[in-house]
Amino acid sequence: MPEFETLVIHAGQAPDPTTGAIMTPIYQTSTYRQDGVGRHRGFEYSRTDNPTRAALERCLAALEGGATGLAFASGMAAIDAVVHLLQPGEHVLAADDLYGGTYRLFETVYAKLGLSFSYASPANPVEFVSQLREETRLIWLESPTNPLLRLCDIAEIARLAKRARPRVLVAVDNTFATPYLQRPLQLGADLVHHSTTKYLGGHSDVVGGALVCRDEQTAGRLRVLQNSIGAIPGPFDCYLVLRGIKTLAVRMDRHCASARRIADHLRQMKGVAAVYYPGLADAAQAEVASRQMHKPGGMVSFVMRAGGGAAVRFAEATRLFSLAESLGSVESLIEVPAAMTHASTAGTPLAIDPALIRLSVGLESVEDLIADLDQAMAASA
Ligand SMILES: *Cc1c(COP(=O)(O)O)cnc(C)c1O
Repeated sequence: MPEFETLVIHAGQAPDPTTGAIMTPIYQTSTYRQDGVGRHRGFEYSRTDNPTRAALERCLAALEGGATGLAFASGMAAIDAVVHLLQPGEHVLAADDLYGGTYRLFETVYAKLGLSFSYASPANPVEFVSQLREETRLIWLESPTNPLLRLCDIAEIARLAKRARPRVLVAVDNTFATPYLQRPLQLGADLVHHSTTKYLGGHSDVVGGALVCRDEQTAGRLRVLQNSIGAIPGPFDCYLVLRGIKTLAVRMDRHCASARRIADHLRQMKGVAAVYYPGLADAAQAEVASRQMHKPGGMVSFVMRAGGGAAVRFAEATRLFSLAESLGSVESLIEVPAAMTHASTAGTPLAIDPALIRLSVGLESVEDLIADLDQAMAASA
């Protein structure tokens, strides 16, 4: 098996057989001429299958080490397909500290359709798994979590969950780590989810989602759902994600190195009450990080000592860090989760500290980024 740095460039993307084109062509077509009635060349209609999407799906499967990859129109559309695996009356056990949109999908769309959801801290795997119910069909994990960047022990949770309930599916939203830093299927998960909008696309120019499954049976059911629901990405979007993936390994190395420098710098700043970064975590978290992550990632969160008002002023004062939702791109972004990405959790047990700021550390000069944070701190005092 080639190394990851080779897979990102070549997996699933052999040069085009008709022309030798090095880059996977954008097959901007909805349908395909058939050689005879019912005799086609593997492609009938582009909701079902498209060669550009097929290349992306093969590449994703190779990167995560799974049997099958499936691409979707957005990260949320991919999660929607997973939830459709369940029957009314079944239950999902999710980690708390969840992506806000996932929480909203569970609570506002699916809770009224007869599924039930509960949330628990995954910090202690034994306690987390003790929340499984007779009717639990799916475990939904994120690691690192958003926005507090806490880790959960994927291998231990998967092992305990399978022992208690062999039929339960363990799914991991791997958007923050990417397969370069963490491969959940190797840790015992059944399904990996990505918002390819983030690090995989990597350039803030496309919205997309993906699933990679360990076994063919779940993959087959998800393939039917992908085609039946129809939330597929267009060929141009697939091309953009494939193109972004080619530089994933080098980008992640730089994101991680700069994020660590910035996390260290924030820790020295008087106006900062706490810094969340997996590489600076307490011993228990650091131990999990060293077992399941190759490096701690490119996201850093911190709490402003002066409170929510100061957090808003800080986020509005940066010049290089753009005030924006999303993450994982070449440019640095800043946001206040309680007022932006996680506004839907207000008033719930998952509500976020208004003084928390989340940074997506981009690929600019780290010296310039640190200078920007320093001037924003001075401006927000
Ligand atoms: C962005 C994101 C999603 C949702 O993906 P979209 O592409 O925006 O639909 C899900 N999970 C995490 C962790 C995300 O960051």
